[in-house]
Amino acid sequence: MKEFEAVIGLEVHVQLNTASKIFCACSAEFGAEPNSHVCPVCMGFPGTLPVLNKAAADKAVQAGLALGCNIQKFSIFDRKSYFYPDLPKAYQITQMFYPICLGGFLNIDTGNGERRINLTRIHMEEDAGKLIHGEGEAAGYSYVDFNRASVPLIEIVSEPELRSAEEAKLYLQKLRTVLRYVKVSDCNMEEGSLRCDANVSVRPIGETKLGTKVEIKNMNSFRSVQRAIEYEIARQSEALSEGGIVRQETRLWDNDRGITLPMRSKENAHDYRYFPDPDLFPLKLTDEKIERLRRTIPELPDSRKGRFMGEYGLSAQDADLLVSEKDYADYYETALKTHKSPKGIANWIMSELLRVVNDKNLGIFETGIPPESIAKLVALIESGAISGKQGKEVFAEAVKTGKTPDAIVREKGMSQLSDKGELYGIVESVIRENPNETERFKNGEEKLLGFFVGLVMKESRGKANPKMVNDILKETLK
Ligand SMILES: [Zn+2]
Repeated sequence: MKEFEAVIGLEVHVQLNTASKIFCACSAEFGAEPNSHVCPVCMGFPGTLPVLNKAAADKAVQAGLALGCNIQKFSIFDRKSYFYPDLPKAYQITQMFYPICLGGFLNIDTGNGERRINLTRIHMEEDAGKLIHGEGEAAGYSYVDFNRASVPLIEIVSEPELRSAEEAKLYLQKLRTVLRYVKVSDCNMEEGSLRCDANVSVRPIGETKLGTKVEIKNMNSFRSVQRAIEYEIARQSEALSEGGIVRQETRLWDNDRGITLPMRSKENAHDYRYFPDPDLFPLKLTDEKIERLRRTIPELPDSRKGRFMGEYGLSAQDADLLVSEKDYADYYETALKTHKSPKGIANWIMSELLRVVNDKNLGIFETGIPPESIAKLVALIESGAISGKQGKEVFAEAVKTGKTPDAIVREKGMSQLSDKGELYGIVESVIRENPNETERFKNGEEKLLGFFVGLVMKESRGKANPKMVNDILKETLK
C-alpha cells in the first residue's frame, strides 16, 4: 500500500457568552424552557429590524486579538439564503466577503515540538434553532426550539495545515484554552458552545496537489473529532490505494458505530446567494476601540507556560497542565504569594486538588480550599511540623469542612514525631521483630529499606518524620 499523508482544516463554531442574542434583546442563556427566549426579531417576522449587539462584536475582536489576527476596521454582514425548519428567516446573517478578522495563528505542542497552525479568518454570524426529533409516542414528529436562533457565534477557519487526527485534537484543545482565557465562551462541547467540522483529504506522500476533500460533521467531543478524522484518513487512503476515488461530499460521524456516513454530495450543493444584509450597517471599528480591547487580553497560555518554566523551574508537562485553564494558573500564582514553594505547591495542585476538581466537577476556586490554604499546608509539611501522610489527612478534612490547615492541625493535635529517642525505640523494636529481613538487608538486599520504613511509619501511626526514619534505619541496620 502506498503511503499517504492527510491534509486537514478545521472550521470551529464558538458560541459567544453574551447575555443577549446577536441582533435582538432576547436572553442567550442555554437550557431554558423551549421557545421561551424568542421575539419577533429572532423569529424573523416581517417588518422587524436586527440591531447588532455591541458585546458580541467586542468578544469577536477579543477572540481575534488572542489568536493574533488582523482585526478588520470595516466588516459587513451578509445573508446566506437557505431553507431549513430551524432557520426562521430562511436566511442566516453571517459575514461572507468582509469578515471581522483575517489571518492569525495557534501554536500546538506536538510530541515532536511546537507547530504553528495558521488561521484563514474569523467571522461573526448567528446560530440557528435546534430540531428535536421525537421518540416513543412522539416518534415520527420533530420539534423545533428557537431559543438558540440568533445566539452569537464566531466561526474560526484554519488553513489546511493539520497533518493528523492527533494534531486536530491538540489544535481544538488549545483553541478552547485560549478562548477561555479571554472569557468569550465557555467552549463546552457537550452543550454545543464549541462545535467543529473537519475538512479532510489525503494525498500520496511527496505530492503537492491537494486531494479531494470530504467535510465531516457531527462530532461532539475532542475524542470523537480525533476518531472521526482517523477513520476518514484510513477510509480515503484505502479507497485510493485500491485504485478507487474519493467523492467530494459531506459525511456525518456516527459515534456509536465509529464510522462516517455520506450526508450529501457537493454536486448538488446549495447556492446560498450571499448578498450584503440591507438591514444592517457595516461594522466599523476605530483604532482606539481595538486598543481598548487589546488591553483586556490577559497573559496567554504560551507566554505563561514559558514563564512558569523559567521563573518557577517547572517541567514543560507540569507547566502545560497548570496553564491549561486560566483559573488553575491564577490559583497557583496566588498560592505562591503565601508560600514560595513552586514545585511543592504545583505537586499538591496537580495530584490532590485537581482530583477533587474533576471528581466533583467544580471550579478550582470552588473546592473550599482557597490558594492560601494549599500554601499553608505545603509550608507545614516542608517545615516538618506535620508529615506528608498527615498532610493528606489535613487536606481531606479541609475539603470536607472548609477549615484552614492550621485549625485542623491544632484540633487534631497533629504533630510530626521528630523525637530522636522515641524514633530509635520504634526502629529497634521493628528490627528485633524481623530478624530474617534484617539478615537479608545486611547481606546486601538494600531494597528492604522501604519495608522497614513502612513498618516504622505504621507503628508511629503515620507521624514519624520520614527523613529521620530513613537515617536512623540506615545507621541502625549497619
Ligand atoms: Zn429575539
